[in-house]
Amino acid sequence: MQIILAKPRGFCAGVRRAIETVEKAIEKFGAPVYVRHEIVHNKFVVETLQKKGAIFVNEVSKIPEGAITIFSAHGVSNQVEVDALNRGLDVIDATCPLVSKVHREAKKHEEDGYEIILIGHRGHPEVEGTSGRVKKEVILVTNEEDAKKITIKNPQKIAFVTQTTLSVEDTKKIVDILETRFPQLQKGLATKDICYATQNRQDAVKQLAKIADILLVIGAKNSSNSNRLRDLGEESGLPSYLINEAKDIQRNWFNNVENIGLTAGASAPEILVQEVIAKIKEIFGDDVKVADIEGIEENVFFALPKKIRTDSKVSS
Ligand code: SF4
Repeated sequence: MQIILAKPRGFCAGVRRAIETVEKAIEKFGAPVYVRHEIVHNKFVVETLQKKGAIFVNEVSKIPEGAITIFSAHGVSNQVEVDALNRGLDVIDATCPLVSKVHREAKKHEEDGYEIILIGHRGHPEVEGTSGRVKKEVILVTNEEDAKKITIKNPQKIAFVTQTTLSVEDTKKIVDILETRFPQLQKGLATKDICYATQNRQDAVKQLAKIADILLVIGAKNSSNSNRLRDLGEESGLPSYLINEAKDIQRNWFNNVENIGLTAGASAPEILVQEVIAKIKEIFGDDVKVADIEGIEENVFFALPKKIRTDSKVSS
């Protein structure tokens, strides 16, 4: 039996930056620091930061006035920013720069007089943040059925943006439908907002699926990009499981399995991958081999928010 590891897997540049932002904020300003929403969708990460002095809340109204407050990697709406300002919170924005780029895009479309279609998952914090970056209501498209049904006031003036962590293939299908229905839509840009990390991890799973008999994805149930990796495994015909950690593994998944494909979503740390490997070895013996597939070497790095980099406690 062998475990074949996807490359790349696990943390992306946006997640690294967000976690480091919380750690550095605690170092610099002292505990506690408040984080609106889970900084990234991973229980292990959240619990580790809680032990260091982070307090996670879902609403800024729960944060004491004036407290150091970090916005998660998923981004926030304008209203959340206003609420934080009115409460006198000392905000550090850990929104991933690739999410901020989508915010700017949506804003620009609105300024240019376009109606905006947002392709994404209803209720996901990134979708709430992006929707709340424009004044007019966006038209949310969650799947192909929505794309077939939506009505547009002026089909000559529409544009779309997407969540950054969608399935590349599903998004292309949705955009195909929209392009057919609304010929004025920007063409050939279906995956423009899906980030490099999402695309690379999906490509790696496609490679894994060619040789694996089963796919294990380490990631949280509410992690969009991790769910897409699991979906991709299933679509490739592999029994595919999304697990939080090693103890979720079930012995009976491995009947007649020789090659175990293993990957991790963009918010899952490598330590969880190593624990899964150790667990599989504990079950099947130390002679289980571990191999890497060839894949992209990622060299993406995002600078930390200004307030963490500078010494003074001033708004960035
Ligand atoms: S998954 Fe992509 S958009 Fe999300 S934090 Fe990572 S790099 Fe940024």
